Amino acid sequence: MAGTQFENKVVVVTGGGSGQGRAAVHQFAAEGAKVVVADWNEDAAAAVAKEILAQGGTATPARADVSSEDDVRAMIEVATSQYGRLDVLFNNAGVGFSARNRFTMASVVDTPVNDWDSILAINLRGAALGCKYAIPVMVEQGGGAIVNNASVNGIAAVLGADAYTAAKGGVVALTRVLAVEWGAKGVRVNCICPGGIETPMIAEVLQDEEYAKGLRDENPMKRLGRPEEIASVALFLASDAASYVNGVILPVDGGWTAR
Ligand code: ADP
Repeated sequence: MAGTQFENKVVVVTGGGSGQGRAAVHQFAAEGAKVVVADWNEDAAAAVAKEILAQGGTATPARADVSSEDDVRAMIEVATSQYGRLDVLFNNAGVGFSARNRFTMASVVDTPVNDWDSILAINLRGAALGCKYAIPVMVEQGGGAIVNNASVNGIAAVLGADAYTAAKGGVVALTRVLAVEWGAKGVRVNCICPGGIETPMIAEVLQDEEYAKGLRDENPMKRLGRPEEIASVALFLASDAASYVNGVILPVDGGWTAR
């Protein structure tokens, strides 16, 4: 256990079973938070919660598909029933470029409408549902912080994943409107836009060495990001160090969107 920045705070991380979410669970727990590790992959959520317990931290797994209203309601109730409050929601779960996911990532012209709907349901409705059930709890408590994990696709044209891109653009817009609506009640809502991050989500894509080299070369820092480099920004935005940061759309991309 490293610090005490989130001591006595209760944090829900969606998609906490892998990649950026898992890294965030570890960092929040290391700062003293009690963490609900939510994922639709029940085994992954349980494994990550176990890692935290083994390190002397506090965590509990919750199986939740963020596109399901019932699951998200229950996920927030795990925080309030188990730990008595909810200080931070990291809306991180999403489907993207993994060959493991069954959805078509393509231009809108080539995207079956069912895939369009599923991708929007997970990546956009999922974040909205998290906010829907977290905000009332946070308002009742006198405040809280929500961090949405979008993508550089939400702020710049990246070809070939139009449903994903539209969903992430929606997350950006949702962040702004909720930040303005709920700021007066002490709820801050901010958004991270990661660039290419080396997670299981894009592992298959990176096996194409030429493509991977292209991704690295086009980045001002000549490398992809690491999950920990997204997690640490999520912690900052959720922390009291960012107590006057609200409605911000923050690229974490090595400077890619600055080109
Ligand atoms: P990244 O960290 O880049 O988003 P990963 O694929 O490593 O990529 O992690 C995404 C996590 O989100 C996985 O653990 C996955 O199971 C989870 N996830 C994806 N879709 C959902 C969903 N609908 N509900 C809950 N968790 C989800």
